[in-house]
Amino acid sequence: MSIRTRFAPSPTGYMHIGNLRTALWAYLIAKKDPEGVFILRIEDTDQGRLVEGATDIIYNTMRECGLKHDEGPDIGGPVGPYVQSERVRSGLYMEYAKKLIDLGGAHYCFCDEETIAKAKAAHTGNGESFKYDDPCKYISKEDAEKRIAAGEPFVIRQTIPAEGTTSFDDEVFGHIEVDNSILDEQVLIKSDGFPTYNFANVIDDHLMGITDVVRGMEYLSSTPKYNLIYDAFGWDKPRYIHCPPVMKDEHSKLSKRNGDASFQDLMAKGYLPEAVLNYIAMLGWSPETNQEIYTLDELVKAFNVKHIGQNGAIFDPVKLTSVNGLWLRGMDLDSYVKLTEPYIRQAVKGNFDIKKIAAGVQQRANTLCEIPPMLDFYDTFPAYSNDLYLNKKMKTNPDVAKETLPACRAVLAEITDWTHDTLHERLMELPAKLEKKNGQVLFPLRVAISGKPSTPGGAIEIAEILGKEETLRRLDLSIAQLENE
Ligand code: GLU
Repeated sequence: MSIRTRFAPSPTGYMHIGNLRTALWAYLIAKKDPEGVFILRIEDTDQGRLVEGATDIIYNTMRECGLKHDEGPDIGGPVGPYVQSERVRSGLYMEYAKKLIDLGGAHYCFCDEETIAKAKAAHTGNGESFKYDDPCKYISKEDAEKRIAAGEPFVIRQTIPAEGTTSFDDEVFGHIEVDNSILDEQVLIKSDGFPTYNFANVIDDHLMGITDVVRGMEYLSSTPKYNLIYDAFGWDKPRYIHCPPVMKDEHSKLSKRNGDASFQDLMAKGYLPEAVLNYIAMLGWSPETNQEIYTLDELVKAFNVKHIGQNGAIFDPVKLTSVNGLWLRGMDLDSYVKLTEPYIRQAVKGNFDIKKIAAGVQQRANTLCEIPPMLDFYDTFPAYSNDLYLNKKMKTNPDVAKETLPACRAVLAEITDWTHDTLHERLMELPAKLEKKNGQVLFPLRVAISGKPSTPGGAIEIAEILGKEETLRRLDLSIAQLENE
């Protein structure tokens, strides 16, 4: 039987990083099997929490990341519809809930919401210490149906055996065993006729043939209740892969509500979808080798559920930035130019060779948003202080610059063929002539024509891009500034 996994987000706003990682892992698990199927299912039964546009965010994010689903609301498939609210309309959940009542796994309940909340609290340990026994369990089905026919509001609740234990083996958290007495008789169908997540997930995962349920570990403690439903129907249970949380720090989960970055925020900050996927794949999963950079296909090959850890993994923006930088530097120059031209153009409006500028930037920028501020010296020559010539490592200072810059100017003024190679050849003759180190010539020159302590590209690259006239103009201004000190 081939693997079928699903990503089942609720359209309640942004794409959280934790959610995206769950989607990615579900994708990888499916795709490891050549016949594997990755499904997108929209879980929108909690109508109060829906946010307009959130479904589009889900589609867009998955498309940008290359997490292509094989079945889903937009492309259909053999076990649709793939949106839960559409499934509600067909009456499917109600039908299964009634079947479950007949099988003894559920019952009609006429308690008010307060009573139900109290019963739940008793089971989660938050309420008074009493064992709530739902009196509605003892109403006969015929009587219950009469009350419903008379218009009385009702919900359908799960019936949990009073005794015994329920157990299962989670792929990440191992053997889990609970006493049935601690499981609450959760609501399966709400008074508005909509199923709760707790019911819909079981019905849908079964009807959609899901073999591997990949989801956040907040569902781990409810899974025994879901398994009781599978058992009542006599259905095969899926494998469970509960994922440890993605953390902001040791104490709190990463969450948009606390102002932590969503996927959209990361894109706006100039990260690449490929790099984000690469980084988040490893939040809680460790590959067997030290390889750091993975394409999606490489992740499919390397991923192994056995190496998912139980501990929450901290999302480290610094590490993400460095992975992003590796991705950017690994691109071929033409793709890099295409990607970065809009960012370069934010800073460089003048008539300069964008490809050459990009080549310099590629060695330096770790995110796309770092690019414009690095390039603000092309259009306008910034004011700067002669202190910039002071650099211990390069053994330069304003006095050294005073010696070397006029020599550079003389050499540059003679060049008629303003190419990288000629500039390089002619400038590199200078250090020996002046009895200086290379850095003592090139570092001051770079400062003198850029006015910046650091730049993408060195003196030769910048001079080449600026052109002869502009290079000499800046050099003259800088020499005058040194002399006027
Ligand atoms: N709709 C649930 C959520 O967004 C999905 C949980 C699951 O994957 O079963 O948390």
